Amino acid sequence: MNPDTEICQYCHQAILPQYFFCPNCGSKVHEAPLSTSVVTQIGVYAFSIILPMICFIAVTKWPGQKYFKSEDTKTKNIGTAAWVILVLSTVITYWWAYTWTVNTVNSALNAASMDLSSYSAQ
Ligand SMILES: [Zn+2]
Repeated sequence: MNPDTEICQYCHQAILPQYFFCPNCGSKVHEAPLSTSVVTQIGVYAFSIILPMICFIAVTKWPGQKYFKSEDTKTKNIGTAAWVILVLSTVITYWWAYTWTVNTVNSALNAASMDLSSYSAQ
């Protein structure tokens, strides 16, 4: 066997390492590289500039703090509830991002070990 060829983990056909999709079964075998075209670069840079601005506007325009500082009990309660919801949603978002990252890393590790076992089975 040519040492440069790999095995499709789905149909076990020999494939070339530069293939992104298996020519036999059509399964995705490699991640396509990220686009480096000028338009994509401009998009990525523009997003990097705009994202902190969106965050800044979102934080400064958040009305919860104004309510929380109010002397009126009912208004202050609304502010307290807004704070609790903000903290909960932050915790849930971080937890979700953490779980997603762990799952992605685990599935990548599983795929890598499946590749190894299919090699040794050949
Ligand atoms: Zn295949």
